[in-house]
Amino acid sequence: MTLEQTLPICIAGTWRLGAGERYASCYPATGEPVAWLNAASLDDVEAAVQGAHHAFVHSGWAQRKPHERAAVLYRIAELIRQRAEELAQLQRQDNGKPINETRALVASAAGTFQFFAAACETLEETITPSRGDFLSMSVYEPMGVVAAITPWNSPIASEAQKVAPALAGGNAVVIKPAEITPLLALQLAQICEDAGLPKGLISVLPGKGSLLGDALTRHPLVKRVSFTGGTRTGKHIAHIAADKMMPVSLELGGKSPTIVLDDADLDHAVAGVLYGIFSSSGEACIAGSRLFVARALYEPFMTRLSAAAAQLRVGDPADERTQMGPLISAAHRESVERYVALGLAEGGHLRLGGERLSGGMFDQGYFYPPTILEGLGNHQQVCQEEIFGPVLVALPFDSEEQLIEQANDSLYALAAGIWSRDYKRAWALGRKLQAGTVWINTYKQFSISTPFGGWRDSGLGREKGRLGILQYMEQKSLYWGMNQQPLAWAGVEAGQ
Ligand code: NDP
Repeated sequence: MTLEQTLPICIAGTWRLGAGERYASCYPATGEPVAWLNAASLDDVEAAVQGAHHAFVHSGWAQRKPHERAAVLYRIAELIRQRAEELAQLQRQDNGKPINETRALVASAAGTFQFFAAACETLEETITPSRGDFLSMSVYEPMGVVAAITPWNSPIASEAQKVAPALAGGNAVVIKPAEITPLLALQLAQICEDAGLPKGLISVLPGKGSLLGDALTRHPLVKRVSFTGGTRTGKHIAHIAADKMMPVSLELGGKSPTIVLDDADLDHAVAGVLYGIFSSSGEACIAGSRLFVARALYEPFMTRLSAAAAQLRVGDPADERTQMGPLISAAHRESVERYVALGLAEGGHLRLGGERLSGGMFDQGYFYPPTILEGLGNHQQVCQEEIFGPVLVALPFDSEEQLIEQANDSLYALAAGIWSRDYKRAWALGRKLQAGTVWINTYKQFSISTPFGGWRDSGLGREKGRLGILQYMEQKSLYWGMNQQPLAWAGVEAGQ
């Protein structure tokens, strides 16, 4: 296919042009188009959902034995691995992340399918302790059509986290990828079909979330939504779900504290704090964007941290040495710049960065350097709102009491990090922090076998984990009567 040709999209088992507007997915490092496609239209949403429902009812997928569904999921994992480099390069172009990161995301997607294949074929349904003359069981049933709505920052990995457990649970899936990063979801749909998934069980609807995502969420045949994205959108989806009495999981934003106690191993803390905020150019929900440092250590630690941050290699995402690529779009970079200006207006000052880079690729793409703001209070807007860029706010603290109060003083509660040599102290602090995930002497490490999600404005529900598959199934209790006699209440006797 040439660049100018319009990519087909996957609707109910058919690859055809979307009926919405033509647009391009652009490479954030240069602003140039990577591929052209037509967005889906509202009619396409209807066709995708009807097709998914039809496939759910008629393809036999839901009735296949767990090990048979698992076999298809294992094959999907295998095909992702076979095409890993091609997918990683495409993802680099679609969203501008450095190639090493996109390779890791592709590997994670393959691992996710493998994990949920295993979870599927080993999922146990239970015989529960009986309290009468019956055998009681707890079993799980597929839900039907699942909508997977994903953001632009980690395509393929985000999609895999929803699609793999949903398919494992016997459902059909309609993916609504972020408008500006549609390419990997389309590739994933192709791989699912190549692996033998019955046609129609997966569709991909690129285009505007406010139109397509909204219609998908409201559709009566959509029985569950799994959403990752911003808190405002998440709340909107939660309202629609409440009206439908539909289960949703919402993986939302964060403003995660990372804490350096006065007994921390400073080499580890510097490396971990840098990775926590500046990898992925800070475009991560779990970015450790609020740094609390024990006052006694503050100056020496910040001197080391900013010297190391200044050495980070920002640049060409295709270069394997690059640590930070561009931001996703010009509009997003402007939003990051507005936050830095706000921090300065709130009385903060820059320890590092805060100015656009220039020359070569920096003049074309949406690059922004590692930036550190200090001199602010935790209550100020830049310390409370998610910037979603490479901007760290640093605050000294005097006592653990004050630290806990401030670290927990946020609408968000997604993640937190602690750096300390004293494991008992770290344990006690870790239990007091309000967050879905707490890392101790590490940061931003993940395992598909460990549940993930947030408290408060950071979300509802959990993804991942062995039982993640149950998020996409309805629980049902079955009772088998074992009485020798009719139930006593009616007064009917056997043989009467
Ligand atoms: P958005 O909430 O704007 O978008 C996420 C997805 O929702 C996109 O596909 C978007 O489509 C779609 N969408 C937008 N409006 C609606 C609507 N009314 N109904 C249904 N779907 C809609 O978030 P961003 O794309 O800006 O992503 C960044 C956010 O995601 C950050 O806040 C970040 O914290 C969060 N995030 C959370 C993660 C977590 O696991 N907790 C992981 C990664 C990111 P469109 O592209 O057209 O806007």
